[in-house]
Amino acid sequence: RIAYFNGEYLPESRVVLPFRDRGFLYGDGVFDTTRTFGHRLFKVKEHIDRLYRSLRYLRLDPGLSPAEMAGITEAVLERNRHLLGPDEDYWVSQRVSRGPSRIDGEEPVQAGPTVIVECTPLPLRERAGLYRDGIRVVVPSNRRTPPDALTPRAKTTNYLNMIVADQEVTALDPGAWAVLLDMNGNLAEGRGSNIFLVRKGELLTPGSRYVLPGISRETVIELAAELETPCREADLDLYDAYNADEAFLTSTSLCICPVRSINGVRIGGEAVFGPVTRRLVDAYVRLVGCDFVG
Ligand code: PLP
Repeated sequence: RIAYFNGEYLPESRVVLPFRDRGFLYGDGVFDTTRTFGHRLFKVKEHIDRLYRSLRYLRLDPGLSPAEMAGITEAVLERNRHLLGPDEDYWVSQRVSRGPSRIDGEEPVQAGPTVIVECTPLPLRERAGLYRDGIRVVVPSNRRTPPDALTPRAKTTNYLNMIVADQEVTALDPGAWAVLLDMNGNLAEGRGSNIFLVRKGELLTPGSRYVLPGISRETVIELAAELETPCREADLDLYDAYNADEAFLTSTSLCICPVRSINGVRIGGEAVFGPVTRRLVDAYVRLVGCDFVG
């Protein structure tokens, strides 16, 4: 595949970073990831806007305007679209680091930020079973980052707390997904997903100060308004989770995927999709023009 790398479009094999890149040394960077539906990018402006909010938080100037970044994102897709089969789609990611670290007496390999835009095929077939059976969520022992240490609202390249969580959860229950609690013991999010609960017909989701403002989360909130389904942000602990009528995760790749159990506690009734989740999924499918549930 072809990727954008600091001003050039290159085969991925030629995208090579100097080992002094601060993204590698310190995780000093940000990224964002959109996806295609039917080979067309979805909500690219929203993803690029979020990328630039994360960049601003890190005081990192990518040397490109948001419009240029969006144009590069489209161009990368354009150069790789022909590789997609009819039922395949891409993640398309923008990755920015502060670039090589300057060491006294040594010239940096390249001054300024590192910017990469690349695409990866989505694992759609591998994930089909998640919609059929629902996701098993397990809450790990470690917590999401306190907002005053490193706000979860910025999509930085520091995912270690969520990776440690995934490792623990996978060891306990292979195939389960981690959803971390925040420092107050309320549900936060997973390594790439936001969570919603349904209680008495109302949608509830953790407050946006304590999680990444997911574009799919935002899409669900908009669809709920259209469907006249009440929806609000709330502090939600494990008591709320275990007593929910329905639960689902949202993410760019999954869109909406029902949760079957949380820490082994079964959520909802016999049907994998509860009525509220089903209505939202149908609306999401209509919006993106693609039956992601299959
Ligand atoms: N939370 C975190 C930490 C994420 O990395 C992601 C993925 O980007 C999400 C939530 C879901 O966000 P989105 O719906 O924009 O993919």
